[in-house]
Amino acid sequence: MPHHPTIIIGAGAAGLMCAAHAGPGTLVIDHAKAAGEKIRISGGGRCNFTNMYAGPENFISGNPHFAKSALARYTQWDFIDLVARHGIPYHEKTLGQLFCDTSAKDIIAMLLDEMAKAGATLRLQTSVTEVYHDGNQYHLTLSEGAPLTCDQLVIASGGKSIPKMGATGFGYQIASQFGLPVTETRPGLVPLTFGDTFKAYSGVSLPARVTANGPGFDEALLFTHRGLSGPAILQASSYWHEGEDISINLLPNQDVFQTLRDLRARAGAKNASTMLAEVLPSRLAPYFAEQWGLTGNLADYSDVRLRELAEQFQNWTVRPTGSEGYRTAEVTLGGVDTDALNARTMEAKAQPGLYFIGEVVDVTGWLGGFNFQWAWSSGWAAGTAIAEL
Ligand code: FAD
Repeated sequence: MPHHPTIIIGAGAAGLMCAAHAGPGTLVIDHAKAAGEKIRISGGGRCNFTNMYAGPENFISGNPHFAKSALARYTQWDFIDLVARHGIPYHEKTLGQLFCDTSAKDIIAMLLDEMAKAGATLRLQTSVTEVYHDGNQYHLTLSEGAPLTCDQLVIASGGKSIPKMGATGFGYQIASQFGLPVTETRPGLVPLTFGDTFKAYSGVSLPARVTANGPGFDEALLFTHRGLSGPAILQASSYWHEGEDISINLLPNQDVFQTLRDLRARAGAKNASTMLAEVLPSRLAPYFAEQWGLTGNLADYSDVRLRELAEQFQNWTVRPTGSEGYRTAEVTLGGVDTDALNARTMEAKAQPGLYFIGEVVDVTGWLGGFNFQWAWSSGWAAGTAIAEL
């Protein structure tokens, strides 16, 4: 039976990074036709490969301390250095987010080159149908060809998002099979749905601060035919649970009461709906005028009423009917419980030789290059730990 010291299941961001460090003879198996398919489509084809300001506070996990070790030992600067050594041109788009100038394919080619140089090989269009440990080594049954054995097995099969691209619950099944707990999984970085409520305003966007049971995110808010999207909503969606409200500040970073007083002084003869169009995209003005019962001229509004109105602008509270789900979610929240893993090596504490890296683990980054940074850091942590055995 063919034997490899290390087999990695999943040729995505984490699996390829791990293969570049795990030592010669490593085999990477993936059921897809090509490696790094999510890297290829990421960042609109330009891959937001890391964030200059990445730190543990940009990640969501049942144990917020778990990611600290790997993130500190393989940082965004290490990855930026690797990108630079490969001569890949890149730029900062906004908020520390680094994108390729040309194509995400540059990152895939770089990772394939690194793993080949390290003596690892890749086997595509192959599914692993069964895994077991005989007390000595791991046995893998495959959809194609002879079964394989290995000493170290790394699960890098990602989360459930975008099933059309081959995402499966495989990693969670393996974790359960070997007795590792898996925390509840749900879609993250996903548009929120509101039935037909905002259909008429589809395409309108404005800067806003969106909060859902977590930090507030100051980014663009986009009205769509299904609900609300844009970076501010995607970020907040990772903190949102079914049945909860989200709070939207439509005029962040300003003294709204003072803005309204100035408007009243300058344009008191205007009706309230016209006033709304001065501070919000004009297509939204009739909606909020009706929602907030605004009638009459601004000159008739007392300071007390203006204060109430300022609060309405700053704390517009809405309840999504749901989210677009895994079909469009960029990530899966939850996953293999970090309590079951060694934070330095990503190895299962109770199952020697079994490792979990990347999105399958209960560590989820914000939007902005953080999820790839977790894939690089956790892949590196497992790979270097294996190479040192
Ligand atoms: P993946 O990259 O998903 O790789 C898992 C691999 O395992 C896949 O190749 C899959 O085919 C394989 N696999 C799954 N099941 C099996 C099985 N049973 N047998 C064999 N192989 C299997 N993050 C950022 O930081 N920046 C971005 O710009 C960004 N853009 C994104 C855009 C989109 C549209 C999406 C969906 C995600 C984006 N993300 C981005 C998130 C990022 O892509 C993921 O967090 C990251 O790819 C996770 O890496 P991974 O290696 O853990 O999993």
